[in-house]
Amino acid sequence: MMLDGVFKIAGHNEPGNDGGGIAPPLDMMALLKALFPLPRSLTGDGVRATLQGLRAHIPLDIHEVATGTKVFDWDVPREWNIRGATIKTLDGRVLVDFANNNLHVVGYSVPVSGTFSREELARHIHTLPDQPDAIPYRTSYYAENWGFCLPHALWQTMLDESYTVEIDSTLADGALTYGELLCPGETDEEILISVHICHPSLANDNLSGIVVAAALAQHYLAKPVPRLGIRFLFLPATIGAITWLARNEDRLSNIVHGLVLTCIGDDGPFHYKKTVDGAVVDRAADHVLSHSGHAFEVMEFSPYGYDERQYGSPGIALPVGCLMRAVHGSFPEYHTSLDNCDFVTGEALAQSFRLLTDLIDLLQQNRTYARVDGRGEPQLGRRGLYRAIAGQKEAGGASQMDLLWVLNQCDGKRSLLDIADRAKAPFSRIRAAADLCLDAELITEVKP
Ligand code: ZN
Repeated sequence: MMLDGVFKIAGHNEPGNDGGGIAPPLDMMALLKALFPLPRSLTGDGVRATLQGLRAHIPLDIHEVATGTKVFDWDVPREWNIRGATIKTLDGRVLVDFANNNLHVVGYSVPVSGTFSREELARHIHTLPDQPDAIPYRTSYYAENWGFCLPHALWQTMLDESYTVEIDSTLADGALTYGELLCPGETDEEILISVHICHPSLANDNLSGIVVAAALAQHYLAKPVPRLGIRFLFLPATIGAITWLARNEDRLSNIVHGLVLTCIGDDGPFHYKKTVDGAVVDRAADHVLSHSGHAFEVMEFSPYGYDERQYGSPGIALPVGCLMRAVHGSFPEYHTSLDNCDFVTGEALAQSFRLLTDLIDLLQQNRTYARVDGRGEPQLGRRGLYRAIAGQKEAGGASQMDLLWVLNQCDGKRSLLDIADRAKAPFSRIRAAADLCLDAELITEVKP
């Protein structure tokens, strides 16, 4: 597959309609459309091409892990590649062609070539009778099989006695491929951002997370070094996360906050799924969503969904939540050809990007302070703090109430997030009030 030139997308900033905020550094919609046709799967050249496409924008490390490598209870599977697949009438008319849509072939289908009766073929056909024009997305990773996915309406018109079937694929020893990028921090502690890259032409389910994560990496690499490193993982679901965990077990304790990103390109409400044991990132996500103006729902952890369940498995138990808009399995476009580039919007991607910068910035800036002299309320006028607030701009939007909350609540135990929640104020304002208090030497940082 020729990819040269496809990914050199000029970064033009397109601020969203919901006012202000940071503009994404790259054109996420253009990148999503460029990556959409690639035949991604658990392994193979579609995954490599996707990671190479991201590399045009961010300095991604690409790792290859050999087939058969033992990772916890699993083995890295054989590598799957596909060049083409068709179903034809006996007189050579092409009815189904992988070249038109890579959802047409069941992922990990073994090679096939021959003539099959309609009855035999029917055992390998997947359709959606309730959505007769949509192509379903199916895989058979761990049971050797082959199959085609097609619109039910098309299958109903296929009434010949036999058909010629061809799947030109290989399932052979090779490697599992994943991408990794660390945006370094001042400390060893890290925020983990993880997205899956194993779905073929599905836009919201996998590509939305991929392009938003790429934009976040580009954004933070261009900024001054933050306190916490930010580690980005682009990997096939389940086996990819298990492989990464198995290869990095000695470094897992550095991960202090984490997020799986998936289905964040549709314009529906946000859904945040909590970490397995509860963590600061849960409260931070709730806080940022509450002040975002977007509709949202917070969901409890469950051991089903995306890789939050690997990061939250026993013996690992990392504080990794999951940010979604549409929830897997519960929207009609899910795992069908209707989850295409028209289902995601540039504006929804930009909203998700901005929400995530607010959330990551909060995690970076959430600290704990104590009053230098905690007896009574300090005299603010003498220190020019009333003037600073009147100036507003320098005060970063902090109000007198925000200052009073900070000075009252900084006891060396409560974090700025605790204070912001109690004050029902956005974190950024409480952070700005704390900065004024730091400048006036009224508070000092405490390691919790
Ligand atoms: Zn999926």
